[in-house]
Amino acid sequence: MFPGELDEFVVSLGQPRYRTRQILDWLYAKGAREPGEMTNLSKALRAQLAERARITALHQVDRRESATGEAVKFLFELPTGQRVESVLIVDGERRTVCLSSQVGCPLDCKFCATGRMGLIANLEAGQIIDQLLQVSQFVRERGARVTNVVMMGMGEPLLNYDEVVRALTLMRLEEGLGLGGRKITVSTAGYLPGIHKLIAEDLNVGLAISLNSTTDEIREQLMPINRKWQIADLLAAAREFFDRRGYRVTFEYVLMAGLTDADADARRLAELTRDVPCKINLIPYNEFAADAGFRRPARRRLEQFYRILRTLEVEFTVRESRGRDIDAACGQLYHRQQEARQ
Ligand code: SAH
Repeated sequence: MFPGELDEFVVSLGQPRYRTRQILDWLYAKGAREPGEMTNLSKALRAQLAERARITALHQVDRRESATGEAVKFLFELPTGQRVESVLIVDGERRTVCLSSQVGCPLDCKFCATGRMGLIANLEAGQIIDQLLQVSQFVRERGARVTNVVMMGMGEPLLNYDEVVRALTLMRLEEGLGLGGRKITVSTAGYLPGIHKLIAEDLNVGLAISLNSTTDEIREQLMPINRKWQIADLLAAAREFFDRRGYRVTFEYVLMAGLTDADADARRLAELTRDVPCKINLIPYNEFAADAGFRRPARRRLEQFYRILRTLEVEFTVRESRGRDIDAACGQLYHRQQEARQ
């Protein structure tokens, strides 16, 4: 619930409005899981809440830390028994949480583990928030705090638009988790209607678009969504995002051997993005057990790709694969646990 909605609810229970603040404080700052824990509320109100309200909670079934401690993967179970994963990524002072928005995903990107599942369910806003609350709790116990959130886990966030935007709004609120500024990034495979909606939204979040190819031909092979919205549409959307919001879209570009890693790709990538205010984030492909034969390019190929971009004065960052040993790297979520269950 948004604070305004909670206000109404509290008032409808015959309670004074200031109870809203107390409840929000219990939920977000103190991490209460039951109304019974909210000891500064009257007994009567606690009983009313226990009867009338539900605190959405995911059951944490597993947590695995990478050997280096740079990545921690959390496995959560929904009341339906379905499972989603979240990942904490530690990078110096930065603590980024990668959240899931759906169980599975309908977009069927050929190289992605989640894509194999098809869409199983949309997460509720509360289930998105609870991933963050539980990871935050873990981080707090180690004397730190979560600094960034990326919607880059399982699912296509813009296809679960309302619940995702509700969750992001709550994260940003001072009474909620207070993640201000541009600490939140939504990543999309290129669902254009969702991008336009997000641009028009009064919500100050960053946008990442998974470009992943420099020709529509290859992109369509890898990402069926490209049949509907092509590279040119995404470049135009990035321009529009910059014009309207004043900051740059990040283009994610997964480097896959023989598909997206040629010298010509590097040159085309430079060409395509030349006049687009954007950032480029290169992601060397993360192989997983049943990855349909996609391969991470060899080190020398990667270096050559980077060299060409540098020569062409393209700015870019490379995403390191933190947590490969626990299958927590990009696109690896889900598959291993399924195998284990089988
Ligand atoms: N559906 C959203 C967010 C989830 S995927 C999107 O497509 O952006 C997050 C990122 O991981 C995307 O850029 C995607 O291209 C990338 N990705 C998926 N599988 C991968 C893999 N096996 N190795 C490297 N990156 C992968």
